[in-house]
Amino acid sequence: MFEAFAECWPWDLADEAVDPVLDRLKGEIGLTGLVVPVLVPALSQVRCRPGAGPRVFLTGGGAMFRAESRFFAGTRLRPVAADGLRRGDPLARAAQACARHGLRLRPAIHACCDPAAAGRFPAAVVRDVFGEPVPGRLCPINPDVREYLRGLIENLMDLCPRAEIEVRQAAFPPDRFGAGTPAAGVPLAPLCRQLWSLCFCESCQHLAGRDGVDVAGAARAVTTALERLFEGTWAVEPAAKAWIAEHPPLGALLQWRTAQITGLHESLARTVGGRLIARYSGPSRWTGFDPRSIGRTAVVCLEVPQASAAAVEQAIEQTRPESDGGRGSEVSFIEAMAGCQEPSALVASVARAAELGARAATLGNVGLLPSTRLDWLRQAIRYATRQR
Ligand SMILES: [Zn+2]
Repeated sequence: MFEAFAECWPWDLADEAVDPVLDRLKGEIGLTGLVVPVLVPALSQVRCRPGAGPRVFLTGGGAMFRAESRFFAGTRLRPVAADGLRRGDPLARAAQACARHGLRLRPAIHACCDPAAAGRFPAAVVRDVFGEPVPGRLCPINPDVREYLRGLIENLMDLCPRAEIEVRQAAFPPDRFGAGTPAAGVPLAPLCRQLWSLCFCESCQHLAGRDGVDVAGAARAVTTALERLFEGTWAVEPAAKAWIAEHPPLGALLQWRTAQITGLHESLARTVGGRLIARYSGPSRWTGFDPRSIGRTAVVCLEVPQASAAAVEQAIEQTRPESDGGRGSEVSFIEAMAGCQEPSALVASVARAAELGARAATLGNVGLLPSTRLDWLRQAIRYATRQR
């Protein structure tokens, strides 16, 4: 069966005024369930729902569920409660809302993109080649972070025993600056930014070195490149693949990171007992997230950047395992919906995903979508279900 989810952030479930929207999503639109992020990054969101307040929701990020210390006995990290919601238990409220409307609840965590915990536990953050911290990003190699992620999942399974758990960003940052490019007197070309985002924290250095990677050699290659950038002598942007091939220790470090991120997802999948949805975290080379390898133990969910059949085909192709036995894939159209001008493009894309065997799609964000767009979801779900 093809399943259709919508994303709904906890603040959009904060009052019962959301009930008419959920009623419509289940009854009229045909939605199966809600993906509710409960460990959230820092963000601001414009809320379109009639009567929503505040119109711009702001949070510095953190946990939006009842964390219990018994799940975190083996790590120095603890979930830090998110600001922004003043009262109550957002996950419990989400569970009640889903139960009221017959929707499945899927809690989601932004694993390593956790500025609240990173601020409280600076020893666990990603550090660049100069030893400087990458704000808000936990290192997925750090043993405390890995134990923390396991604790988060166990805590959520205890609160929602039958739910699938979606894990996002359980990987390295693809670009330490993201959309917030700093003031700089030199052009920060993609390869420079990516090299500058690589983690050389103590855990990465120690564990990669133990596994035979020449970490000092990799660090030398990155430092030399960045110093040429600062001197203004790295004028040409080389192709990443060719550049890495010229620096074997760096290539070995990148390969080692990918194996580690696959291993992390394997261990999280074991914790969840096979009900893990792993959200694609960005280019494999830099994040370590390899959809094909991770797809052997978790269902991989890819974001489709725009509503077109070609974009869907490309996304699903990335998860196709070399041999049989993958756990299947899902697609998300949240980014695509923002730029989508007419329903037919969404309808065709979701139908193509169903036809290619995607087990589910996340179609939009309940809080961000104007109510007129909800009808697009109805059309897409109806058409996609007919394709299966
Ligand atoms: Zn690290």
